[in-house]
Amino acid sequence: NQHTDMSVFENLESSVRSYSRSFPTIFERAKGHELWDVNGNSYIDFFAGAGALNYGHNHSDMQERLIEYIQSDGLLHSLDMATGPRAEFLQTFHDVILEPRGMDYKVMFPGPTGTNTVESALKIARKVTGREKVVTFTNAFHGMTIGALSVTGNAFKRHGAGIPLTYSMAMPYDDYMDGFDSLNYLEKMIEDDGSGIDLPAAVILETVQGEGGINAASFEWLKKVEELCQRHGIFLIIDDVQAGCGRTGTFFSFEKAGISPDVICLSKSISGSGLPMAITLIKPDYDQWGPGEHNGTFRGNNLAFVTASEALKYWKSEEFSTSIQKKSEIFQKRLHEFVESYPELEGEVRGRGLMLGIASEKPGLSGQIAERAFAGGLIVETSGPDDEVLKFLPPLIIDEEAITKGLDIIEDSIKAVLG
Ligand code: PMP
Repeated sequence: NQHTDMSVFENLESSVRSYSRSFPTIFERAKGHELWDVNGNSYIDFFAGAGALNYGHNHSDMQERLIEYIQSDGLLHSLDMATGPRAEFLQTFHDVILEPRGMDYKVMFPGPTGTNTVESALKIARKVTGREKVVTFTNAFHGMTIGALSVTGNAFKRHGAGIPLTYSMAMPYDDYMDGFDSLNYLEKMIEDDGSGIDLPAAVILETVQGEGGINAASFEWLKKVEELCQRHGIFLIIDDVQAGCGRTGTFFSFEKAGISPDVICLSKSISGSGLPMAITLIKPDYDQWGPGEHNGTFRGNNLAFVTASEALKYWKSEEFSTSIQKKSEIFQKRLHEFVESYPELEGEVRGRGLMLGIASEKPGLSGQIAERAFAGGLIVETSGPDDEVLKFLPPLIIDEEAITKGLDIIEDSIKAVLG
């Protein structure tokens, strides 16, 4: 009963953007940083399920614990009932992540996806402040439901949005905004009664914009955002769905910025295994939900809790974080070499940790390189408003040899595409 023919996707699947057509083969299995297709071809993974597989595919310890739990007739679905895996996750998250960082937050299970955590964050900010508007930034991406879409900066993804929830502001990364100080501008507008701009409920942002093109905010700028929020009683929501869980080198992407968000959104790699899971971290004073105000059938996936607790073991020492930063240096050094050696790329290296990219000024070039790389045995995606950024999100457990091998494929693909 093995499907080996791609035509089923062409004929039977809706035309909604689908990865089955971006990577034209049928995948069969995967382990660590590698995938294999039905034809026996192997692929190095520089995509990691868009950041959902930071610990690699089919991690042996997680697999073992899952099998054990299923064979013990553990609950696969329990809605919101208390279970051992749920308790273990809460305790481990507190002991391994929150307490050592001096962070005091309540953990909420908002539903299975990144979009669910964003929705819950927007709702609690609006409820607690009693205000409506949310400040967001150009090229932000926060999800696909109507609320999350309305804070998503890319206009082309907003079709069907239409809840007038936001002010969309340009994010002032120095390189992108020519020094325009949008935070100062925003503050002036808020303070001016005649501006027509009401005090917002929240500011929501990604510290490194993933879908928006691997734009990394400086720590100084993040600190300024926090100060502005504190001066005016505005909620600071950090959407760490893609940049969190170690992607930028520390568990939370904002740790080195020294900020203390009011609400934090995590999903993707929080389960560790690729199983759907999301959490919203809320400062205890703001945990003001009324009964039934945010419920949902799939809020507590016990299989995801089992693997999530296992994944958190990586964070018991500094070792993992150090290894990510070391790999990041190797990776970045090589990306800089590409940009220098191939000036026709008109490229720029972006990112932090193992959330990296090369932006190319040449239209369509990044997509062509990604396509070529796939034929050479590497899975890599593009992002940015015009898909102009080759985006590198390898599993954090990848070894240096595979990084080099993957980057060799990128270099061969650059050469081939540039001719
Ligand atoms: N926020 C960010 C920063 C994301 O990158 C994504 C997904 N790419 C989301 C939210 C939405 O997550 P999901 O696709 O799981 O709903």
